[in-house]
Amino acid sequence: MPSPFDPQVIEGLYRELTKECTGQVASYIPELAKASPDRFGISYAGVNGKQQHWGDSEERFTIQSIAKTVNYCIAQKLLGEDNVHKSIGLEPSGHGFNKITLDGDHRPHNPMVNAGGITACYLIQKVCGKDALETIQKTWAAATNGEVPEVDEEVLASEKNTGHRNFAIAHFLMEHGVFEKGTKIHEVTDFYFATCSLQTNTRKLALFAATLANGGTNPVSREEVFAPKVARNCLTLMLSCGMYDYSGTFAFRVGLPAKSGVSGGLILGIPRVGGFGIWSPPLDAFGNPVRALAFCEKLSSEFPLHSCHCDCLLS
Ligand code: GLN
Repeated sequence: MPSPFDPQVIEGLYRELTKECTGQVASYIPELAKASPDRFGISYAGVNGKQQHWGDSEERFTIQSIAKTVNYCIAQKLLGEDNVHKSIGLEPSGHGFNKITLDGDHRPHNPMVNAGGITACYLIQKVCGKDALETIQKTWAAATNGEVPEVDEEVLASEKNTGHRNFAIAHFLMEHGVFEKGTKIHEVTDFYFATCSLQTNTRKLALFAATLANGGTNPVSREEVFAPKVARNCLTLMLSCGMYDYSGTFAFRVGLPAKSGVSGGLILGIPRVGGFGIWSPPLDAFGNPVRALAFCEKLSSEFPLHSCHCDCLLS
């Protein structure tokens, strides 16, 4: 299938968005504040394996909350969907990404917010023990270009030194029995921080998004990294919960599954078509990258991609 996108149109959107200069680079993790607000990269990978790039697509940054997608997929793979969702809900929280809150069943609302992401890490660690991080790294490599992602040690140290909110969330999860008695809370948070500190670039993000959009099979290597149902579940929760407390508006305007992170990265999946990886550090008040958000909105208005749009995609 040919790419449904005219690269010139994407190039035009890219250029237009370089003029968008609002938003603030995240600083609550001090090391992230060093990122240049001007950096901007976009990559696309189709389910046919074709890839295209615009701007700073090779520059590295940390994956941050986008790790929650791969972690959720791995938790499902290791424990099964039902077991994962005994501990983690399926509903948008309606709250900021790091709110200390649980649903009516004493579970984090979903795997895309910090409480749910930390719980997915807890579940993975219960099965994999000391190999948990390596499991994430190898899976990320399989879903991207085969390169094992390294931990950015400076960002990791910065997160650990200032991660009081995440420690509070983890203690709250312990208090409410989401973690079993005897759980070493700091081992869970250390692992969670390490997954957020993995290095990536937009090229890899696009391949990861395309793997999800391709039913869990890497479109280049043809390896099945996740079962189709695992990928579908992840895309579904990205659609309803991936953009924090902006998820409803994003679903309304863009109509596609996405997940953002506080370093300015964003993945956008277009089921059965492909995936975008976008990076621009300045964030809006919800913690979503401003340029990436604007790109998704413009893309969805230029091309008939909205999942509730009723015309034939390629007509
Ligand atoms: N490491 C970040 C945190 O836990 C991830 C949050 C995010 O990207 N939204 O605060």
